[in-house]
Amino acid sequence: MNLKDKIILITGASRGIGFEIAKKFIENNAIVIAISRDEKTLNENKSELKNYIPYPLDITDSEGIKNLSTFLKENFEKVDVLINNAGITKDNFLIRMKEKDFDDVININLKGTFLMTKEISKFFKKQKYGNIINISSIVGIEGNSGQTNYSAAKAGIIGMTKTWAKELTLRNENIRVNAIAPGFIKTSMTENLSETVLEKVKEKCLIKRLGEAEDIANLALFLASDRSSYITGQIIRVDGGLSI
Ligand code: NAP
Repeated sequence: MNLKDKIILITGASRGIGFEIAKKFIENNAIVIAISRDEKTLNENKSELKNYIPYPLDITDSEGIKNLSTFLKENFEKVDVLINNAGITKDNFLIRMKEKDFDDVININLKGTFLMTKEISKFFKKQKYGNIINISSIVGIEGNSGQTNYSAAKAGIIGMTKTWAKELTLRNENIRVNAIAPGFIKTSMTENLSETVLEKVKEKCLIKRLGEAEDIANLALFLASDRSSYITGQIIRVDGGLSI
């Protein structure tokens, strides 16, 4: 798929799923603005990859997001795709979950996605085209014990995905909004889970393996391309059949 000269913004592009998406898109000739809080890792990644533009930013910082917008206007004038991928977990059972851990997960995963999209959709409305890919989770659909904060944030992302798909096309703009709902994917987010838990997950999957970041990147590439031009407002599971 050729994404030549497409400007793609990816939050959480320093590692894991976001970095894999960045690599896949760059292989397909896109220019990636890579966002995370970790400037050092972003710069290290840059030395490996042409067309990977590090942009250190905390997505909960609304002033910082406004500066990003100015940077984009001055350097590229357009944005083709926004991928809201940044996220964290702070798991605990409901009765033990600290209020701060609830707030942190909601602030980054849900509010950060809102703040980024609010700002970048101004480009999309002006251009009359755009493409938003949100990374939710099967946990936002099915729930998961120990993840009150995370499931609420990921379910919220599903609500926002459908709302934005409707709202951003009110004047017949060609703006598509979809979400990917991954199952268990091998990244730093899941690396501390015990072997027993991971074995149980594998057992439950219809495809008997854990997911790779590339499984998500492949769908993101399809959703970003014109080959999916009639798909919008959808939540697509990539979980090896774990949740059915
Ligand atoms: P990861 O390896 O921990 O990567 C998370 C990324 O988000 C990092 O690049 C991190 O960068 C960035 N990030 C976190 N907070 C940020 C903030 N405030 N501002 C900017 N960037 C921030 O996790 P992952 O597994 O790749 O997860 C990527 C997405 O997939 C997340 O939304 C996650 O919820 C979702 N997901 C993952 C799985 C899974 O099994 N792995 C399953 C379902 C959904 P810095 O820390 O450097 O800022």
